[in-house]
Amino acid sequence: MEKKFISVLFRCCQVYNRIYINKEGTAYAGRCPKCLKSVRFKVGEGGTDARFFEVY
Ligand SMILES: [Zn+2]
Repeated sequence: MEKKFISVLFRCCQVYNRIYINKEGTAYAGRCPKCLKSVRFKVGEGGTDARFFEVY
């Protein structure tokens, strides 16, 4: 099974990062590589197919 990830643009620092799905498969979790702000995106029922997100 391929490892799932999404691309996130961290507006706080204007940087991109990949964040990976957690081991339970319930959410993507990661952090800004510069300021270490943490983010989570839930994997919804019906599931979003979006692969790109922005956080502020
Ligand atoms: Zn940041």
